[in-house]
Amino acid sequence: MNSVEWESLCDGCARCCLHKLEDEATGEVYYTRVVCRYLDEQTSTCSDYKNRNKNVPHCVHLTVKNIDEFSWLPDTCAYRLLSEGKDLPQWHPLLSGSKETVAQAGIGIKDKVINDRYVHPDGYEEHIIHWVGQ
Ligand code: SF4
Repeated sequence: MNSVEWESLCDGCARCCLHKLEDEATGEVYYTRVVCRYLDEQTSTCSDYKNRNKNVPHCVHLTVKNIDEFSWLPDTCAYRLLSEGKDLPQWHPLLSGSKETVAQAGIGIKDKVINDRYVHPDGYEEHIIHWVGQ
């Protein structure tokens, strides 16, 4: 798979830009509705993609080489599905031919999140959500 094909797997849902909490005892990951301050919510894209690892040192960089580490990604994410040997859903843009189907399927995060500028890191637990499957 070349880099263009790899990038095309991303459906643009931006769910990976949500802050997550991990239960240290069980390793379970909980998604919150608190989103990275660099996400442009209107377009669901990073507003400073080129410098994302400088702006947010722990920002994830998904590659074929670290595919084994994708279990924390949302269960709808194509990279996770690929790592688990599963098929893409019908709403995925590569199958539907349109990015609109991501929003139509309720996968996007637009209007469902709160920017991390407005939430103290100690308060993320209050914003745990269950609409992102794990
Ligand atoms: S969760 Fe997966 S499909 Fe959605 S934006 Fe992140 S990398 Fe792309």
